[in-house]
Amino acid sequence: MTAEIHAVLEKYGYRLPSGGDHIRELVMARVDIALKSLVETFEGRFGDMAREIPDFHGPHVAPPQPGHLILAWHQPGRRALRIRVVSWTCECRPTTCELCGAAGQGFVRRNDREKRTVHETSGTLTAVARHTFEKILRGEAG
Ligand SMILES: [Zn+2]
Repeated sequence: MTAEIHAVLEKYGYRLPSGGDHIRELVMARVDIALKSLVETFEGRFGDMAREIPDFHGPHVAPPQPGHLILAWHQPGRRALRIRVVSWTCECRPTTCELCGAAGQGFVRRNDREKRTVHETSGTLTAVARHTFEKILRGEAG
């Protein structure tokens, strides 16, 4: 690392002082601070970018609306079946919902990463399940 910093400094016409370790340490400390600030700047910019790019996030579940429909959530009961996940909500939230299809039926699966629970709505016609999923997204059901 010191050799690389030395090379960069020389490239710009500076020279790492040859005097005692104390001076060298001071210079290295300065470089360390500059590198940390560079990393923070980069991460900060990236964070802003992530917020600004709409495609970075999937749909989010809106907060519950007044009079929202209370859904019945059951323990997952379709382990033997092949489940197709059709739509899903953004992974940035601790709770995600997935619109699923299995054996010609649709249902919504809710994963809570904090509570480590998985629940599902009852199986219905695919169109009805999609309607329920959209209601959940708008905060009209949950
Ligand atoms: Zn998100």
